Amino acid sequence: MERKRILITGAAGFLGSHLCDRFIREDYHVIAMDNLITGQLKNIEHLFHLENFEFYNHDVTKFIHVPGKLDYILHFASPASPIDYLKIPIQTLKVGSLGIHNCLGLAKEKNARVLIASTSEVYGDPTVHPQPEEYWGNVNPVGPRGVYDEAKRFQEAITMAYHTYHGLETRIVRIFNTYGPRMRLNDGRVLPAFIGQALRGEDITIFGDGSQTRSFCYVDDLVEGIFRLLLSDYAEPVNIGNPDEITISDFAEEIIKLTGTDQKVVYHELPVNDPKQRQPDITKARALLGWEPTIDRAEGLKRTYAYFLSLTPEELNKKEHNDFDKYIIK
Ligand code: UDP
Repeated sequence: MERKRILITGAAGFLGSHLCDRFIREDYHVIAMDNLITGQLKNIEHLFHLENFEFYNHDVTKFIHVPGKLDYILHFASPASPIDYLKIPIQTLKVGSLGIHNCLGLAKEKNARVLIASTSEVYGDPTVHPQPEEYWGNVNPVGPRGVYDEAKRFQEAITMAYHTYHGLETRIVRIFNTYGPRMRLNDGRVLPAFIGQALRGEDITIFGDGSQTRSFCYVDDLVEGIFRLLLSDYAEPVNIGNPDEITISDFAEEIIKLTGTDQKVVYHELPVNDPKQRQPDITKARALLGWEPTIDRAEGLKRTYAYFLSLTPEELNKKEHNDFDKYIIK
């Protein structure tokens, strides 16, 4: 049988690279695309020798040309950590608007099904808890997170418009906090921040008083949910995440135990518009996809820590993997 062909944008990123692995395992032909601003080539280098894998170093906000047929497009290109989108706000807005427009145009041309990576950030600092898909959110468009949140909200809107107006097959996954191997050590997210600090012998930095909550999903569970959603016939947004909620203080304690660090906890100011609580309502994913997370935090953290331990001292001590400076528009 002829292989299915899938384009994955943001393929060298944390989630994109795990999706590449999954679709290669399913024997798809994977066309990986990334401009390597926040992605890292080392996440996908192990696939380069495969005949059913190709890589394009391309910015998806520019016209996308892919020769041959395409069955599926996964749009995962985007900065995705608060520090990243503070540093490159314009690129964040462009990839969620011009980038998805190009993907949708390509999908229409190729008659391909598109799945977009949306986010729990569409709910903003939520006033409904846990968050079901029907909740419309509480987002500050002009706050520091607005560039990401509104880009993702626009992305959902244009994807729905292509679905209703052009009859395109589309899927929308709202991804809650996810962790695992290949997260960038210095992207500012809480898990790599804490583990990096423990490994370098630095203080553990809690923002605010640590009473804010998050619910962390292990990457393999997330990928399974995305795989099932892509192959489903459901076009409305679906939350994928792990409902096991924890305060950031308790999470810090877990990381301290895991790493055995004797560093102290220090408190920094809470970033503006930092959501106070977050937990996915996954009733829909359970009913529609028969999906729920299977890897608990103890196991997931063990696997993730093993990855960070495998980094070289040079990688560990590098302050930033990617050179953002040339992208920052002041
Ligand atoms: N956080 C923290 N210390 C850090 C980095 C993050 O306490 O060194 C907090 C952050 O303020 C937020 C939570 O951890 O409340 C999760 O932050 P992250 O950037 O991982 O994701 P997001 O806020 O987008 O969920």
